[in-house]
Amino acid sequence: MIRDVLTYPDRRLKQVAVPVRTFGSELARLADDLRDTAASFPRTVGIAAPQVGALWRVIYVDSGQSPKVELPRPAMVLVNPRVTASEGSDVAREGCLSLPELTADVRRAYAITVEAQSPDGRQVRFDTEGFEARIIQHEIDHLDGVLILDRIASLARDVFPRRRGRGRRSPGQDLVERARLLATLAHVGQHYDGGPYTDHLQEVVGVLGRHQIDDPLLIAAAWLHDVVEDTPVTVDALRTEFGADVAAIVEALTVPAWPDHAAAHEDSWRRIAVTPGAVAVKLADRVANVARGGPRARKYLDQQERFEALLADADPGALGGVVPAMWTQLRSELAALRARATGAAGRERSQP
Ligand SMILES: [Zn+2]
Repeated sequence: MIRDVLTYPDRRLKQVAVPVRTFGSELARLADDLRDTAASFPRTVGIAAPQVGALWRVIYVDSGQSPKVELPRPAMVLVNPRVTASEGSDVAREGCLSLPELTADVRRAYAITVEAQSPDGRQVRFDTEGFEARIIQHEIDHLDGVLILDRIASLARDVFPRRRGRGRRSPGQDLVERARLLATLAHVGQHYDGGPYTDHLQEVVGVLGRHQIDDPLLIAAAWLHDVVEDTPVTVDALRTEFGADVAAIVEALTVPAWPDHAAAHEDSWRRIAVTPGAVAVKLADRVANVARGGPRARKYLDQQERFEALLADADPGALGGVVPAMWTQLRSELAALRARATGAAGRERSQP
């Protein structure tokens, strides 16, 4: 039976699976399900029981699906598998059914000795190397709640959007896709105003789109604008992976953790003012927040005068024609927010 595959960040993928003690029909059914489920995805070389929600130490490996294996072994189900010896290491690109949006560069042992049991309880022991050794290590990781994202050295450098379809993407589209992926992964589990944090990022990008801004550097910066402030990603990593312009915009938008909140924000606004294009991302961020009417938006009403004073003459980069329209939209969204706020206060006062 083909089962649904859990995808990150499903919590079950982070749990440690238990050893199999009983070699009976239930295990045989799980082995069949793993084989059927793997076969339902093209070119799938392995799957682990936790990926179908069964927290047992069982993996399925079918290295024959890969052109990278010269002498493939028949597909096998390994129960309670362990790596008992390993040698050497290398880095290679891996995918995972539970992370369908991405691939990642992961370092693994090159050659391993595996001990396990077969589904009918026989002891199995063999040596393997290269791609098959990599698959087995990847699947055993799943039994310990470890995903390829836990094995990478850098979220900014080692993770890549999976290419879909045949058409080639432009370098600009690639940049935006990588930024979206990094932001999505870096902010996983973070919530904002009742929804996933990435909803807010999507809204900011949407505001840029509604103003016909299609510069990939700005859209990438919009996806990444809070990544340095809120996650372990550094400006240096952004500079290396996304270029100096994107890194400069994100750095300008990052509010330092100073004790004096207002001063920290003003510092950011001053940096935005001298960073080409940064004001467009900042305005899109504000418009998205005010339109949503979330907790930050009320603060903006009080800040607006100072905000405008510091940013009115900001360097718009190539967006000289568009930025004035963004200011107009922000002012009208704020006016609507103010009207809603005073209307609500009025209604509260009139309660008996
Ligand atoms: Zn996997």
